[in-house]
Amino acid sequence: MRPVTSTELRDFIFKGKPFLFDPYRGVDLTQEKPAPFKAAELGLEPFRYCPLCGRRMVTQVVPTGWTAICSRHGKISSYYFEH
Ligand SMILES: [Zn+2]
Repeated sequence: MRPVTSTELRDFIFKGKPFLFDPYRGVDLTQEKPAPFKAAELGLEPFRYCPLCGRRMVTQVVPTGWTAICSRHGKISSYYFEH
């Protein structure tokens, strides 16, 4: 597997741009707006889908939070949302 070096997704989140896809259900947010759920609002729920392209992410839950990787747009971490 090719290493993921893109920082596109991380940069996108740091800029606070609105997501294109729901990171928990993969829904296209330009088409519908799913109701938020509690764990997601608290930032506890790991991302399952890339907010930029809707691809399934490789998600890993660790003791301090979670990380998720999109093969196209790079890696993000729950750490990014805590600061
Ligand atoms: Zn992506």
